[in-house]
Amino acid sequence: MNRNRLSIIVTSGIALFLATALWLDLIPRAHTVYSDTRLLMGTLVSISVWGHPKGKAETAMQKAFAEFARLEEVLSWQRPTSEVSQVNQVSRETWVSISTELGTLLQRGLLLGQRSEGAFSMALQPLTQLWGFSSEHQDEKPPAKEKLDRWLRLYPTVDAIRLMQKEDKSFHVQLANSAVGLDLGALGKGYAIDQAISVLRKEGIANAIVDAGGDLRVIGSKGSNPWRIGLQNPRQKDQIISMSQLRGDIAMMTSGDYERFFLLENIRYHHILDPKTAEPARTGLSSVSVQGKNAAEINGLSTAIFVLGVEKGLRLLKQYPGSEALLISEKGEPTRTPAFIADWLQEPIKQ
Ligand code: ADP
Ligand code: MG
Repeated sequence: MNRNRLSIIVTSGIALFLATALWLDLIPRAHTVYSDTRLLMGTLVSISVWGHPKGKAETAMQKAFAEFARLEEVLSWQRPTSEVSQVNQVSRETWVSISTELGTLLQRGLLLGQRSEGAFSMALQPLTQLWGFSSEHQDEKPPAKEKLDRWLRLYPTVDAIRLMQKEDKSFHVQLANSAVGLDLGALGKGYAIDQAISVLRKEGIANAIVDAGGDLRVIGSKGSNPWRIGLQNPRQKDQIISMSQLRGDIAMMTSGDYERFFLLENIRYHHILDPKTAEPARTGLSSVSVQGKNAAEINGLSTAIFVLGVEKGLRLLKQYPGSEALLISEKGEPTRTPAFIADWLQEPIKQ
């Protein structure tokens, strides 16, 4: 056999092998991203996986979505059967035994509550319900002042949620009074994103993004490219004001006054509440984005900073090393910590 013929046979052999391997999904297809989207936790959750065979990517994504759904059943106060609802339903003198998962999450949230001097509070559920931002049929008017005042009178600050861990490590919780109810709305989505990422990793996925309505965490990259994340202009829905190129393992969470809100006589009423006033937080900010390792932590942190405002918020951020923030004022002015990853496309539009 001459050399030319031999090389043709070898080359066709390799080509045939590669085609079969691709057909059988044995090797990743270059530049192929597999994505899927579900409605979970009241928002569209999208998962994309890069550089893995289709079958493997799809199985992993299914399992990650299932984890999201499981956590919704644990953490959502809107679901009457959730663990959080069960705690909210028992009479207030009772200590309730809770799962280690919920106990650990409450522990983290209570620490943030202390560090933010009560600006972050998971005890606001009755207030969230009064304002109605989580319901499908928003009233578009503030609750009666007497109702807010009553809540303010009863609401005790630091001791609102009593958490105890026994020697056997089991967690127990007690709520202070009828004005207190658990609302993990500012931690739950971040925690679910973290859990979804660990499910993907367990399934052998190295490159992925889990995005829940703009709150997200990435691992790895899209081959030689980073994951590119656009940030919405708080005052113009279809406009991107900055682009973050993320790779490795990093989360980015945003709290804003533009996702769930209504306008009444030129006043914006939104879903991030100040426990000290029982009203939507008004510290001159329209959006707070935080980048960091842990999505649950920075989910809570972005909410807390929103309530605290620029100065106190940035002071709180310092207690979370490795976290960076981009704050946008109501007038569109940005304040950004030095290592916040963002390429500016344009300055936010001034009002
Ligand atoms: P989004 O859910 O739109 O991403 P956040 O992550 O900031 O926004 O969470 C807002 C949710 O957190 C509210 O819908 C409510 O359930 C809860 N929440 C509102 N105010 C506070 C607060 N001061 N501290 C902790 N949780 C809050
Ligand atoms: Mg958020």
